[in-house]
Formats: sequence, structure tokens, C-alpha cells
Amino acid sequence: MQNQIKEIPDTHLSALVVPRFLNYVRYWTESDHHIEATPSSPGQWDLARALVTELRGLGLSAVDLTDHCYVIARLPPSAGCESRPAVGFLAHLDTAADVSGKDVKAQLVHHYDGEKITLSGGLVLDPVTDTGLAAQKGKAIIHTDGTTLLGADDKAGIAEIMGALEWLLAHPEITHGPVEIIFSPDEETGKGLPEFPLGQIKSLACYTLDGGPVGELEVECFNAWEIKAAFKGRSIHPGYARGIMANAITMAASFAQMLPRSESPEATDGYYGYYNALEIKGTADECSLTLYIRDFEKTGIERRLKALDSFARAVEAQFPGGKVVLESKAQYYNMKEKIDARPEVLAILQKAAANLGIDSYLKPIRGGTDGSRLTELGIPTPNIFTGGRNWHSRIEWAAVSDMVMACRLVIELIRLWGEAS
Ligand SMILES: [Zn+2]
Repeated sequence: MQNQIKEIPDTHLSALVVPRFLNYVRYWTESDHHIEATPSSPGQWDLARALVTELRGLGLSAVDLTDHCYVIARLPPSAGCESRPAVGFLAHLDTAADVSGKDVKAQLVHHYDGEKITLSGGLVLDPVTDTGLAAQKGKAIIHTDGTTLLGADDKAGIAEIMGALEWLLAHPEITHGPVEIIFSPDEETGKGLPEFPLGQIKSLACYTLDGGPVGELEVECFNAWEIKAAFKGRSIHPGYARGIMANAITMAASFAQMLPRSESPEATDGYYGYYNALEIKGTADECSLTLYIRDFEKTGIERRLKALDSFARAVEAQFPGGKVVLESKAQYYNMKEKIDARPEVLAILQKAAANLGIDSYLKPIRGGTDGSRLTELGIPTPNIFTGGRNWHSRIEWAAVSDMVMACRLVIELIRLWGEAS
């Protein structure tokens, strides 16, 4: 029997996804990890409210916006499918602070000619070094103008979920169980779903749309810790400092030098973890350094925590009178173990991909998603590709055919969950 979802014309789905995406990226939703409140930036409210209006406009009545900017919408089950398990789809509202997300001017190229694309500021999208881009020759892509990031991370995910919803609402002949849609703030701050309204969520499984090229599925992510190192120096007039002063700036620099370069983000890939110095500020009297450590194994995290402690003691030994205090906290955990305990969640995803002819493959996420945290909270949540590339950068771009396929995959997944018991 033909799979009806596979047969939906690409043009039909791209008309549901691309204009939405081009609209969403215009909202300035950059998050700020310095801000404790959720959401950390006001623009996220603007996009959340626009999505609530749009969801209601599609005819959904159960649409909520929580006090902390989570959009929750419910697609009611088809008649006779009320007792099917509920399934959820998530994407995040914010964009990373690495590069500005203000005044994004997305450039839609209908037929990419396969040549270099020069952006403002002399930046180049080069198909020679970016083989993913070369593969888009003859197809549609969306890139930045070079002054901002694009925000495909994760507005591509939002657009794909919204497109799938609109299609399903127009095709009641495709029966399905209850579906929950969650658009979350502040994913990029690494706080891990702060203020998440878990009590309102009924889904037995969720999927984030927050991944890369078509086919890429993710059930494994880093364990992630944030460490704040406080360096307390001993200050005194520099003219009389000999043998007395402990300079907090020099102490922090000495500590940063001890981080093994072979275990830095720029020196590692695959399953290798790292130390990543993120921010430094202070004076000769007091200085603070924030860093992240990442590893797929808990033992790798423990090893690095111990190493950081010994670096701190070494700095104290080098700078008599100075003190180093480390504060560490977990941000999120590798979700693999808990997803493995519910194998049907990945199996349905892989079946949906296979039904659509997608060559799917599993890849470890060198980062985390809201799904990492949600999995820890008890709802297994694999991650699905969105078609975005080069996230958090001015050379971010997205493949329209991948975006269309992600939208199609959401529809097929919802259909398959409607058959599950
Ligand atoms: Zn993301």
C-alpha cells in the first residue's frame, strides 16, 4: 500500500514551512545566560505570543502560554483514537547569544547554483569546504546576509512542527492520538528547561526538532556541567608588592593555561569530551572564570571535576595568599540510558523515517537539547534533524528540502503513534 504521507508534494509542505520560518527569524529572541529569570529576554515573549495567535488561528482551542513563556498546544485525537498514547513535539524559541540574532535578514535562494556565496563582511559560504552545501546544488537554501545568525536553530524546528500541524488539521482522514506541542524558552542558556510545566504534559514520549541534516537522529548527548571558579587575590600597592601580592587575574590565567588543550572543543570530536573556558571577568583583587565540561560518560565528568580541583590547588600553591573556590553544578545528563529503557520511542521514529525513504542514522549530540532534560524528567525525547547547518554563526544556513522532510517526518510520526497502543 502507498504511504500517503510520502506522496504529499514537496511544494505543498514547503509552502507550509518556509514562509513561517522566514517570519519567525525576524523575531529577536536571543537568550542571555547571565539573566536568572525565565525567559531571559523579552523578544521570546513576542514570538511566543505570535505563535499562540497562529495556533488559535489554525483552529486549536487548547493553547496555553505559561507565566514563564512556554507555549503548549494540544491537537485533539481523532474520533476513536482517544485512548492512544499522547506524543509531544518540542522546539525552542530562543537563539544562541554567540552571534547577534537581531534584524535577521534571511536570504532565500530558490535554485542554488553550487557556487561560492559571498556574504557581507567578506564571509563566504564555500561548497568546497562545506560539502553539505555542495549537495544542495539545484535545490533551495536559506542563508544569512552575514551580519547575524540565521536562527534555523531552532526556528526551523518550530516552522516544521507548525507546518505539520496545519497539514494534519486540513487532513482529518489521517487519524492520530493526542498530540502536544511545546515551544520552550532559553534552551541555549544551558539551564535545562527552567520552570518547565511538567504537570501539564501528558505525553509518554516527545521528540525535539533541534538537529542537523536530513536523516540525523540523536538519542545520546553529553553530560554537561558548569563550573564557576572564583579567584581571590591579595592586593597591595604594586610598589610594595614583592612577596605579598597575589594577582587574581594572573591566577585565573594560570588556571586557564592548565586546561588541557587536547581536551578543548576545537581539538575534539565524536565521543571525546572537553573543557571549555567560557567567560572571564574581574580585577587583580578578584576574578571569576566560568567554564563548561562535557563528556558522554559520567566517569569522564568525574575525572575532569577532580582535575579542576587539582588545578585550583596548584594555582594556590603558585600564588601564596591567593584562594581559588570552585562551584560546580550539573546542567543536563546523557539521555541514552533512559531512552534505551523505552526502545519503542526510537523504533517508531526509525520506522517513520524508513516509511518515507529517509536514510536515517544515529549520531551523538556534542551538546544537549531540551530533550536531554525532559528525558531526565521521565519523558524519553530523541532529537530529530531540522535541516539547519553551521548553527550559532553568521554562516548558518538551512536546506529547504531537509526542512520539508522534517515536517513530513513529524506528520508520519504522529500517524504512527496513532496506531500504537
Ligand atoms: Zn537548538
